[in-house]
Amino acid sequence: MENQLVTCPMCEEGQLLVQVGLEQVNYQSKQFTVTYDFAICSLCGSEIVTPSQAAVNQARILDEYRKQNGLLTSQEIQQIREQFHLTPAQADDLFGREVNAFSQYETGEAIQSFTLDKLLRLVNQMPATFQQLQRLAEVNG
Ligand SMILES: [Zn+2]
Repeated sequence: MENQLVTCPMCEEGQLLVQVGLEQVNYQSKQFTVTYDFAICSLCGSEIVTPSQAAVNQARILDEYRKQNGLLTSQEIQQIREQFHLTPAQADDLFGREVNAFSQYETGEAIQSFTLDKLLRLVNQMPATFQQLQRLAEVNG
């Protein structure tokens, strides 16, 4: 959890107290409810979402969207990557050449394509395909 004793940027005197609420979200024509972190100033009552809270909230929305669409979550992508002892950069090279794609999937900044999702599941379920993929990546390189 974030540091709970942060000075309020609005009044510059009060302390921000971390709160957790529920938020109804519309994302890519899906509607769902996610837990939502924010802070309230003990003095002036301002409601604030800090940058790190915004990142956490965004990651929750993307993960909920993934669950609703049958996509791997950030954590599942990370587990598969680590199972094959790949760094995020190595996974980018192997699976598609998009720079920082894996780190964005894992921190919840971006959602993987359905194509990549199926490829990751395939490699995860049939580890022998991993070597095939490595050979393909070398041929393409
Ligand atoms: Zn304040």
